[in-house]
Amino acid sequence: MEKVYLDHAATTPLDPEVFEKMKPYFLSEFGNSESLHSFGRDAMLAVDAARDSIAKNIGANYDEVYFSSCGTECDNWALRGLAHGLKKTGRKKILVSSIEHHAVLSSADVLKEEGFDVEYIPCQRSGKIDVEWLKNALTDEVSVVAVMGANNESGVIQPMQEIGALAHAVGAVYFADCVQYAPYRRIDVKTLGADVVVFSAHKFYGPKGCGILYVKRGVRIDRLIAGGEQERGMRGGTLNVPAIVGAGFAYEKALKNLEENNRKIASLRALFLEKTKAIGGEVLGKDEERIESVLSYRLDGVRSDEFIFSADLEGIALSAGSACASHASSPSHVLSAMGLSEEEARSVLRFSFGKHNTEEQIEYAAKKTMEIVERIKNA
Ligand code: PLP
Repeated sequence: MEKVYLDHAATTPLDPEVFEKMKPYFLSEFGNSESLHSFGRDAMLAVDAARDSIAKNIGANYDEVYFSSCGTECDNWALRGLAHGLKKTGRKKILVSSIEHHAVLSSADVLKEEGFDVEYIPCQRSGKIDVEWLKNALTDEVSVVAVMGANNESGVIQPMQEIGALAHAVGAVYFADCVQYAPYRRIDVKTLGADVVVFSAHKFYGPKGCGILYVKRGVRIDRLIAGGEQERGMRGGTLNVPAIVGAGFAYEKALKNLEENNRKIASLRALFLEKTKAIGGEVLGKDEERIESVLSYRLDGVRSDEFIFSADLEGIALSAGSACASHASSPSHVLSAMGLSEEEARSVLRFSFGKHNTEEQIEYAAKKTMEIVERIKNA
């Protein structure tokens, strides 16, 4: 059996059609998009086209879309840039959900060191943030509310429209990390509720190395990286033209096939659950709206690191918690925020399915999962 990749929340394979679109920009069209000659102009035309396409696809204006090196950079830029930009309004309080990606949480740590007042929005066992808590915490001292679109560990979708409306009612800006949400749900920034949105091309079969930041016109945000006039002076650094071209095309393709891919991925996930139901796993976040791909599966008495190691020997790739957290010795902050004990959190596996998976692969993965669980429990 070939290897079975079930870790699409960590990254997705590059779609070969996307790669074909990128190739000329590594080879013949290699110009620096800032150069004034034809090589530069050709590169800039390609960047413009990708920006235009992404803007249209999220209902934004062309000048509201920026490119950076990854979702992590965009998250840093969004939270720190907003906090600094809005400091001039006298607001210094930032509300960050306790289940954010480390890119956001670590940015909040930096802001705390700089003297900002950061508070953490609690999460419920269901995987949804506590909206009642947020309502009570929102005052006219708050500058930014940061709550992601969908969580990378539970897959649970957060009530962005409601959060946006609450934030706006006190004059705060709402920033939504949509890195996990964007591959599975259409984004229309006019109705989403968020003023600032981040997504990342490698989560929807695009290249690694391209983060996308949407900032609504009029929102005050500072730059993160100085050093050049790229991105209208907001982000210095030579543009990664092939990655930007790939991101634009990958996003178009993801949206074109969104419903079909979601249906396929949901049915593979259901098949896996059906075939493994005898082991009695607990599906986290099962009563909430979720992105199709992620299955957060708690298997009592099974340590996730032991399972992942055994699965890897069988050619099956998956995660425990987020890819970044999976090398850490402490249990995932997301699972802790959802109220799981340390012991419970250590028995949570994250399977995340993708458009290239086949039923045969899922049946194989399910069969091996049953065998591994049995082996671990009987050891
Ligand atoms: N935000 C979320 C919710 C993520 O899941 C990830 C990556 O897993 C990131 C941000 C970081 O994105 P990137 O890998 O492009 O840096």
